[in-house]
Amino acid sequence: MRIDLHTHSVVSDGTDQPEELVANAVAAGLDAFALTDHDTFDGLAAARAAASEAGIGFLGGCEFSTQVGGQSVHLLAYGCRPDDPELVAELARVRDGRDGRTPAMLARLASLGMPLTLDDVAAFTTDASSVGRPHLADAMVAKGYVRDRDEAFSRWLADDKPGYVTRYATPLETATGLVRGASGVAVVAHPWSRRGRHDLPTRRLTELVTQHGLDGFEADHPDHTASERAELHALAERLGAVATGSSDYHGLGKKPLFRLGACATAPEQWRRLLDLVSARGGVPG
Ligand code: AMP
Ligand code: ZN
Ligand code: FE
Ligand code: FE
Repeated sequence: MRIDLHTHSVVSDGTDQPEELVANAVAAGLDAFALTDHDTFDGLAAARAAASEAGIGFLGGCEFSTQVGGQSVHLLAYGCRPDDPELVAELARVRDGRDGRTPAMLARLASLGMPLTLDDVAAFTTDASSVGRPHLADAMVAKGYVRDRDEAFSRWLADDKPGYVTRYATPLETATGLVRGASGVAVVAHPWSRRGRHDLPTRRLTELVTQHGLDGFEADHPDHTASERAELHALAERLGAVATGSSDYHGLGKKPLFRLGACATAPEQWRRLLDLVSARGGVPG
């Protein structure tokens, strides 16, 4: 069984429509997948219907923008009741922070000699509930300022580059509580990508699982080295936490390393996750 539990569609910064994502997941030979757009559940109904039609397993989720000490941490929220008022309100607050940051980043890019209008960006956000830096990158590519999203990030948009402007993100422990309050399962995405090993060392991951209701974390992810994956699997095993694997697929928006099924979740971990969602009264499909 091949199970990929972290993917994006045009509803955030992926490039596939939810229905195309389902078709691509089938073509990639996946048995099940989760749609986890940034800070929104808006693509889930379309993806769920298409997955049911295609006979592929599906789990609804989102990738929640959180922070620890001001550093970004992505939290995968699976099986939440999508109408939970507290979670819905907090996700709206995060999306408002995204919308508010866009003009600020455009001003920054203009000062760097790369003028763009909100309309230039809007051309790439027709289907997006959640606007992000990759959309700015697409507008930069269209103007000829950079070759692709990768160059936009590595030269201008990454957290330590001159075009970057910060935005609101929920404290990780608050976000975990909101996900659990909405009957969902909370899994930290790519905990050791970028600064992650510094922001979420083994001791912090342990505390989050043993004291703050975190259910698990991604072990297999394209951003993790083989030794990091092995360490994270061993840690999850020691803690009795769920260890997942995913591609973090964004369609054409990311490199082939992130192709569907590039990393996967073990069938027994998938069953545990579904059992947790069901036991909490969430949405296990
Ligand atoms: P934002 O959501 O606006 O904070 O932008 C961050 C998002 O951009 C991440 O969640 C990734 O999906 C995406 N991203 C980060 N680095 C790159 C890159 N080098 N190329 C394409 N997308 C990226
Ligand atoms: Zn993304
Ligand atoms: Fe992420
Ligand atoms: Fe992601």
